[in-house]
Amino acid sequence: HNQTGTPDLTLLNKAQYDACTHKDGPAVVYAGAGSGKTRVICSRIGWLITEQGVPPSSILAVTFTNKAAKEMKERIESYIGGQKSKNIIVSTFHAFCARFLRIYSHEAGYQPGFTIYDDNDQKSLLKDILKQLNVPDKLLSLNTVKSKIDKIKNQGHTPEEYLQEIKNNKDYTIKEERNQLRNFGEHYDPELIQKVYELYQRQMKQQNAMDFNDLLLIMYKLLENNPNVLASLQNRFRYFLIDEFQDTNPIQFKLIRILSSKTKNLFIVGDDDQSIYSWRGAEPSFILNFDKENENTKVYKLEENYRSSNTIIGAATGVIKNNYKRADKSIFTQKTNGSKIKFKSCDDSYSESRFIANEIYSAIQNDEKFSDFCILYRTNAQSRSLEDELRRRMMPYIIYGSVRFYERAEIKILLAYLKLIINPTDEASFQKVINTPRRGFGDKALQNLKDLSLSRNETLLKTMTEIVYGTIENEISRSISGIKEFIMSYQKWRNNINEHNKPSQILADIISDIKFEAYLKTTHPEDFDERWLNVIELRNAIIEFENFEYDEEFIQNEKPFTGIEKLSRFIEQAMLTIEPTVVNVQQGTANAITLMTIHSAKGLEFPNVIIAGLEEGVLPHQNSLDSPEAIEEERRLMYVAITRAKNKLTITNCKRNRYKDFLPAQESRFISEIPFEFIDQIDTINKNVKKEFGKINAENKFIDKPRIFKGDDLLQKETNHSNEDTPTWRKGQRVNHKVFGEGIIREIEKSSQGYRLKIKFERSSVGEKTLIHTYVNPI
Ligand code: ATP
Ligand code: MG
Repeated sequence: HNQTGTPDLTLLNKAQYDACTHKDGPAVVYAGAGSGKTRVICSRIGWLITEQGVPPSSILAVTFTNKAAKEMKERIESYIGGQKSKNIIVSTFHAFCARFLRIYSHEAGYQPGFTIYDDNDQKSLLKDILKQLNVPDKLLSLNTVKSKIDKIKNQGHTPEEYLQEIKNNKDYTIKEERNQLRNFGEHYDPELIQKVYELYQRQMKQQNAMDFNDLLLIMYKLLENNPNVLASLQNRFRYFLIDEFQDTNPIQFKLIRILSSKTKNLFIVGDDDQSIYSWRGAEPSFILNFDKENENTKVYKLEENYRSSNTIIGAATGVIKNNYKRADKSIFTQKTNGSKIKFKSCDDSYSESRFIANEIYSAIQNDEKFSDFCILYRTNAQSRSLEDELRRRMMPYIIYGSVRFYERAEIKILLAYLKLIINPTDEASFQKVINTPRRGFGDKALQNLKDLSLSRNETLLKTMTEIVYGTIENEISRSISGIKEFIMSYQKWRNNINEHNKPSQILADIISDIKFEAYLKTTHPEDFDERWLNVIELRNAIIEFENFEYDEEFIQNEKPFTGIEKLSRFIEQAMLTIEPTVVNVQQGTANAITLMTIHSAKGLEFPNVIIAGLEEGVLPHQNSLDSPEAIEEERRLMYVAITRAKNKLTITNCKRNRYKDFLPAQESRFISEIPFEFIDQIDTINKNVKKEFGKINAENKFIDKPRIFKGDDLLQKETNHSNEDTPTWRKGQRVNHKVFGEGIIREIEKSSQGYRLKIKFERSSVGEKTLIHTYVNPI
């Protein structure tokens, strides 16, 4: 970019330039990883505004994750400045829908301040419904019905439409599902699923609640059925740009189609080889057939990769070409080969983590930064041993998208209180808060209340209020004192929110009225501090939100927001935004290793990438092993993982126990698909000895080492290869041990297993012990 506030298009190559300056009408940019697709989208937005005079507020850019949306926004800002880019909407599909459903809630048939239900809320309602319908678990399990309903919604079908599908029986997914369910030993009964779905939608509406998929479905139905709303959005939005298009599912596609049907300025970019969300209904065929299905579509192809070394491109190409179902693409780079891909096979996940930490640690000694490293894995569970190791060594790291902030127990419960204040018909939140903290209102009492409410056709809260006020008699009336207090407080909070207009004050009231601090202290003495900090963080976030200058949309609203409106927008934002979970990092430090699943790494890049757990059963995932199609999707995941790396790629695996038979896992097939000249295998015994692939089988690659456990050393594991350097241990340092508690290092001695630390523990019953350093954490 340059000084004039316009994107510098001379930084683009010819193909990118052509795509960027595409005139009106539909266009598809179709290209491999790292070829500048996202760069083209961002430059194009800048070009539209500065060169074509398009008003920023008429541009809608959609991408897949909040992190990607944020990065896109930053890129655009760097091109054209904050002022001009302020009113461009760059968001995920979900956030876009939630935002406009707030504005058009009446038209959509909902009350303003509707609640968003997460997966667990959704399940608790479905459980009730299965009970109401007397459906035994054997016939239809909770998980099955939930995933079926999600799937139907992803296809864009309402209960009525799904019924029609069943009647026509033309939905091929119905046949496919029949077989799947038979495999699980469940019966297949589309009518039953339809019935549950219908009841579920009805009760959701009564509770003034939407689940994540509803945001899309209800928004789409609104546009389809309400010409006024459609016209007003079509007048406002005239340019549509979508990144990562290969991962759109049918309902998202319908949505963007109807919005763009007036101007037809739909500009999509994507790569079918990176389609990794078919389990959420994404259909790569949309991008492959886009030009055929949309008249006058211009197709642009980008072929030069600017991200990765030649070695990395070679590896990625070698892997992906094993997929049958793909459109051929060529990709090249002008970069040099760079370093080879390091491959290390370890004994167990601990040694794997240790190896990874060592690699990073030695690179840091050579002046690389922690933030230049990203560790990728297939499943969240793999992060645990990595985290343990990094924490032990005081190496800073950040995990993205593992646990969303609002999913932490202490935050969730407070949000449930707030949600119930906004929406008294929110049954999921009511059930969460009613006995937390304990008010002597157990499961039995709750069931009793549910039955009573159902027979009276009232909400749980309303029924309970009437019991408390003695309007109705019930056996729960006897154990009611804790409940009485709750109802009184609730009414106070609800009155206050509109009078004082200050959500943060309401939160403070809740925390003190329900004695939340004391509750956390007794229930979670071990990590109270961390939880309490989260609570404070939540309050800060609300305060920040209160003071936030609302954007144009909301100003258009003209009248100031009520407390409830502010609060519901805050909660929506909290639920839809994935917060990074920051662990082991000093506040404000950006220099940290990134840990994430491959799924969440889409679109990102790092100088050095480490892919851990390359085993059959991990990547490719256990559930994919029997299906050739699923294996192809796993291979695309591998392709995404490899292509995140700019300079250096390291791959590791270990002899993890398999789920099924607890035998050691075999090496991932994807390793052997990387052309062998690109790999440098670090041998377990002789370092840096190259080995040819295909000649080694899993059995002789792993050398079994016995683990010896004895007495006090029960928590010390004997391993033979821990001659790594560890960050400074010093005499007098305070440390913590999971079992023995806190203590002080008295002596340090180097050994074959790392450092032996003589520690004096505070507890006299423990006294002095000598332990290997990996079993204590510095404090
Ligand atoms: P992915 O498929 O992984 O999403 P992408 O196609 O979106 O990748 P970008 O992220 O836009 O690729 O670009 C990859 C890298 O190459 C970025 O660092 C970008 O700045 C750089 N890049 C793109 N085009 C050029 C160019 N013409 N000259 C120099 N660098 C470029
Ligand atoms: Mg991209």
